[in-house]
Amino acid sequence: MRGALVAGNWKMNGALATIEPLLRGVLNELEGSTMTCVVCPPFVYLAAAARIIEGSSIRLGGQNVSDRGVGALTGEIDASMLKDVGCEYVIVGHSERRTLFGETNDIIARKFNRAREAGLTPILCLGETLEERESERTEQVVEAQLRAVLDLEGVDAFRQAILAYEPIWAIGTGRTATPEQANRVHGFIRSSIGARSDEIAEEALILYGGSVKAANARGLFSMPDIDGGLIGGASLDPKEFSAICRAAG
Ligand code: PEP
Repeated sequence: MRGALVAGNWKMNGALATIEPLLRGVLNELEGSTMTCVVCPPFVYLAAAARIIEGSSIRLGGQNVSDRGVGALTGEIDASMLKDVGCEYVIVGHSERRTLFGETNDIIARKFNRAREAGLTPILCLGETLEERESERTEQVVEAQLRAVLDLEGVDAFRQAILAYEPIWAIGTGRTATPEQANRVHGFIRSSIGARSDEIAEEALILYGGSVKAANARGLFSMPDIDGGLIGGASLDPKEFSAICRAAG
């Protein structure tokens, strides 16, 4: 039984004054729902968010994590600290981290490792640029991103993990992959894991991310290999985000 999950990546948005109405809005909209929804606010708002969603079905996640252990690393956040403030999940390898902050496949594989060691569920993001897609290198790129983690951690690490296929050309652009386009890559990711373990591949949750909205969520989530979504912009609107969560349920 794979189930489904929707995670909201708030990125560098929000303020103390806005997180409460946003979360209360989502809580109201999702009242009675058993769907697993995760919110990932900026680090400094995690503890406040944890208090607001306490006792609800909404779970908490970080947007990033250090690839080292605790110690003299100014500005870094360890996985154990995320756990300490109530996180159960953490996004690893978001394309903004890869492209704007120089995170390599190796760094991301170490972050994935730190997250798991601390008992967090990593949400590992994979995805190609427009140029890579147009030169038909999508599978090659996604496979290399995935292999870096599989080689360091072994396939067993994916028993507790979640993957997110996020084509970079679809993130924040309003241009969504078609359900068929996305499902094809999801199927490829699943079969790449399946080459090491069919059982783990079948159980892996693979989310789609890239301009998901209430209006296109149902079409995407109805595809056999799409198990929910990683949502950026639309996660800042409680009605939109809740409608997307319901579409996955
Ligand atoms: C994201 O940043 O993970 C994302 C999918 O963003 P958006 O939904 O805004 O495209």
